[in-house]
Amino acid sequence: YPYTKYNDWYTPLAGGDPMEVQYFIYPEHVGVVEPNYALTVPMIGVFAHAYGEYPFVDEKYGHAEFTWGGGMEHQTLTSMGGWSEDLISHELAHQWWGDMVTCEDFGHIWLNEGFATWSEAYWAEQYYDFATYQEYMSIASYYGPGTIFVEDPQNENIFDGNLSYNKGSWVVHMLRGVLGDADFFDGLALYRGNHEYGSATTEQLQEAMETVSGQDLTAFFQQWIYGDYFPIYTYGWIEGPQPGEITVTISQEQTDTGLFTMPIRLLVNTTEGPVDVTVENSLATEDYVLTVAGTVESVILDPDRWILRQVRTEVTDPTFDQGILLVNGVHWDSYGAEIYSAYEDSVFWGDNPITFWDCFAEPGGGYPANLPAPIGHDSVPASILGGYSTVIWVGNNYNGDLAKWAETPIQSYLEVGGNLLLMTRTSKSFLAGDLTGYLGVTWAEEAASLGNCVAVAAGLVNIPFIGTQSWNDVYLTGMGAESTLLFNDTAGFSGARGTGVWASPAGGGSFRDTGGQFVHLAGRPYRMNHDILRQNVEYILEHYLSEPFTSISAVPGQDTVQKVPATLEQNFPNPFNPVTTISFSLTAPGPVRLSVYDVSGRLVRTLVDEGDVTAGDHEAIWNGQDQSGRAAAAGVYFYSLETEGDSRTRRMTMVK
Ligand SMILES: [Zn+2]
Repeated sequence: YPYTKYNDWYTPLAGGDPMEVQYFIYPEHVGVVEPNYALTVPMIGVFAHAYGEYPFVDEKYGHAEFTWGGGMEHQTLTSMGGWSEDLISHELAHQWWGDMVTCEDFGHIWLNEGFATWSEAYWAEQYYDFATYQEYMSIASYYGPGTIFVEDPQNENIFDGNLSYNKGSWVVHMLRGVLGDADFFDGLALYRGNHEYGSATTEQLQEAMETVSGQDLTAFFQQWIYGDYFPIYTYGWIEGPQPGEITVTISQEQTDTGLFTMPIRLLVNTTEGPVDVTVENSLATEDYVLTVAGTVESVILDPDRWILRQVRTEVTDPTFDQGILLVNGVHWDSYGAEIYSAYEDSVFWGDNPITFWDCFAEPGGGYPANLPAPIGHDSVPASILGGYSTVIWVGNNYNGDLAKWAETPIQSYLEVGGNLLLMTRTSKSFLAGDLTGYLGVTWAEEAASLGNCVAVAAGLVNIPFIGTQSWNDVYLTGMGAESTLLFNDTAGFSGARGTGVWASPAGGGSFRDTGGQFVHLAGRPYRMNHDILRQNVEYILEHYLSEPFTSISAVPGQDTVQKVPATLEQNFPNPFNPVTTISFSLTAPGPVRLSVYDVSGRLVRTLVDEGDVTAGDHEAIWNGQDQSGRAAAAGVYFYSLETEGDSRTRRMTMVK
C-alpha cells in the first residue's frame, strides 16, 4: 500500500530550525485529510504554550494512516484511523501525556487518556472559544459508577471510555477550576519537569499541584480518582441574618457515595450587578453568610460547571393538567436516520396528543412533520415538568443526553406524582441514586447485547428488534413488592433477565394519589419494530400511566363547596382474594362517593354513593365484583373517596 507523503513545518517556541511534520496518507485521501491536517502545526503551538515545548522537537512529528479505527500515539509518528480535529488533538497531546510522561502502571492510565481527552477540549477553547470548550466538557460528562483508578488491570477494562477518558478529562477540568489557570499550568510544568521522559503516578501529579498551589489536594484526588460517582447538591438562600447579608444553604444529597470536598462558585445576581463568590464545601449541610450590596435576585450554584455534579431542584405545586411531555434525548447527528424514521412513525407516543421537548438542537433538515415544534431544549426545568401528567423520555447516553437527564429533576417529579415512561439503553447510568430503588429492580448483566424482548404482562406483545441492541443493562426478574415485570429477555443471557418494569408506589405521589407511576423499557428504542413498539407504548400510556389523565371530578350538585376533611385508609387485607374492606372517616357530615377504578381509569364498581353520610368512621366491603356482578380480573385497582371539594385515592391489588 504505497503512501502519498507530504510535509509541513513547525517553528519551535524559542525559534531556531523548524521541525518537520510528516504525513503519510492513502492516495485516495489526497485532498480529503489536508484541511484538518493543516491544523496540526497550530495545535503543536497551542499545546507547546500550555505544556512546554513539544517533547521531540529535535526529531519530528507526523501522521501515518492505518486501516483500524481511532489512533495510536506512537512516539513522533501517530497511526491515524481518521482525520477529525478530536483525533488529531488527542493523539498529539499524548506526545506530552502518554509518551513523554507515561503512567507508571495501568492503574493510573487516566494520566494518559484523561489528559489527552481534556486536550481535545482545550484545543477547541483555544481555536474556537470557551463556550465550545464547555460544550465539549458537557458531552464528556459521566455520571455512572466505577473508579477512575483501575484496581485490577488484569481483569478490568483499562481503556474504559467513561472512566479513563471522559471522567478522567473531567478531573483535569476540575483541577483547573480548583487551582485557577496560573497554578494549574505552573503545576503541569512542574509535573513535566519532575517526570519527563519517565513515568508518573496520580500521587506524583498531586504532589506537583500541591507544591505550586500550596493547597492540600488529598480529598480531591481521593474522591475523584479512587472514589466513584459525584456530588448531588441542593441549595437555597434567604435574606439575613443582618441587613445587607444573605445566607446560602448547600446540602449534599448523594447516597451512592460519601461527601465531597470541593470549592463551589456561587453567582449572586443583585440589583447592583452580579457578584462571584467561592465557598469551601465538605459537609452534608452548610450555611454561608455573604455580604452583598443591593437586593439579591437569584443565586446560581456552579454556573460555569467546574464540577462534575448534579444540582437537584424540586418540582413544587405540580398541576399535571397539560397531558404528555415527550422528551427526545437521542442526538440527531449520531443516530440520524434511525431516530428520525422512528419519530416519523410516532413510535414513542402513538395516537396520544403530546407536547415536545428536545434535549438537542433542531436537526439539519428540520423536524419530522408529525412532530410539534419543541417548547424547549437542553434539560427540562422543574417548572415545566410539573405541568404534565406523564413524561416520555427517549434516552440514549451518547453525546451528552445523560447530562440533560441528570439535570432534570426526575426523582422529584415522580415523588410529587408525575408519571414517567423511560426508554433507553445503558439504563443503570440513567437510574443512578435512588431511582433504581424506586423502580424496585436488582441489576444483573451490564453493557450487554439483548437477545429478544418477550412480553410477560397482559396486554403487551413481544417486540422484535430491527438493529443491534448493544450496551444494555438488565435486571433480575424478581423485583420489589410495588413493581411488576413487563418484559424480559429469554435469549441473551444464562437465565431470563428483566428488560421492562412498571413501578407503582402505594399511595402514589404527594400531589397525586394515583401518580408516581414509572415504566422502564431497556433497549435502544430506535432499533425496535416501529409498529409493535408503538402498540406497546399506547397500551402502557393508557393502562399503566392513565393517559389521558383527567382529575377525578368533585361531587356535583352542591352550591357551596366547603371542604369536608376526610381520611381514606389502606384497604385490608391487601393484596386480597377476592374480598377486602375499605375504611374511611369524615369529620363532618356530607355527601360521599367511594368508587373502584381499574388502572386505565375505568369505573369498575361504586361502593358508596350517598348524599348525607354522618361524621365518624365507616367501612365498605368490596367483594371483587364489578357493577354487573361479574368477578373482576386480578390486578391493580384504585379506590377513590370523593367528598365535597376533595378526593383521595389509594391503590390495591387483587390476586387470584
Ligand atoms: Zn488516547
